[in-house]
Amino acid sequence: MDTIEIPPDHPRRVSLETREQVIEGHQRHIVATAGLLAHGRGEAFDYLIGERTHSYTKLAINAAAAAMLTADHPVISVNGNVCALVPEDLVLLSEVTGAPLEVNLFYYRKEREDAILEALKGAGAKRVLGTHDRPSTTIPELSSNRRRVDPDGIGSADVVLVPLEDGDRTEALRRIGKFVITIDLNPMSRTAIFSNITIVDNIVRCMPLLVEAVREHKGRPIKELKAIVDRFDNRSNLKKSLETIRDHIDEMASEAQDFKEETAQ
Ligand code: ATP
Ligand code: MG
Repeated sequence: MDTIEIPPDHPRRVSLETREQVIEGHQRHIVATAGLLAHGRGEAFDYLIGERTHSYTKLAINAAAAAMLTADHPVISVNGNVCALVPEDLVLLSEVTGAPLEVNLFYYRKEREDAILEALKGAGAKRVLGTHDRPSTTIPELSSNRRRVDPDGIGSADVVLVPLEDGDRTEALRRIGKFVITIDLNPMSRTAIFSNITIVDNIVRCMPLLVEAVREHKGRPIKELKAIVDRFDNRSNLKKSLETIRDHIDEMASEAQDFKEETAQ
């Protein structure tokens, strides 16, 4: 296996280590080849938001925690990239919220499903929905395997967490009345726009924060939690992410100008 040693002081260390995790996931058949490209798109947006969790993103994390805790039947959707990056956090989140994990693959292969199942079980998952030996129901207006959902999972869920999801599927979930929470580094993606709550952050940074937020909010009166969800404004949060990107680019542009002037002297 081609693994690389990343020096501890490397400025892109965390990003490179995360990339290595996705590559390893691909070698273990957990991540689809297209998943490698999706990760690259995410990395580009992470660069643009400054590779950190912003204060307004913490509002989205809080609202997501409150929405999962007030749900009658919350479900966590798992794909290859998500499984390769945060298997333990998925299991922890499932335990603290009572939301089952459901495997949902854009590019279905039995080999991938088995590899994901093994990784989730290895991370401590006791029960995983959405596998091929389970019954399935369908989401209308989506083709082939992407229609399939588990009747005990997304099929009957009121709130679904669909991290790193595709826009068509998110739109279809909204259309059948699900409350959708996503994690997506691109505030311009259709998923980011269609979801009720979008956490614009790298999944490796925000999942531990989401688990912590659920632990903090657990036990609070339902009324208070519902108020947190109602107060949250996704459009305004997406706007703040876009402003962060714009400000970051402005800053970089002035630095580039200064550099040009210094080298000209
Ligand atoms: P959409 O279909 O919603 O318009 P898309 O076609 O651009 O989006 P997809 O490949 O369908 O993108 O979905 C993957 C999404 O996951 C992308 O928006 C990408 O930025 C995001 N993403 C990739 N890696 C991460 C990560 N580590 N953390 C958070 N988001 C990520
Ligand atoms: Mg897409």
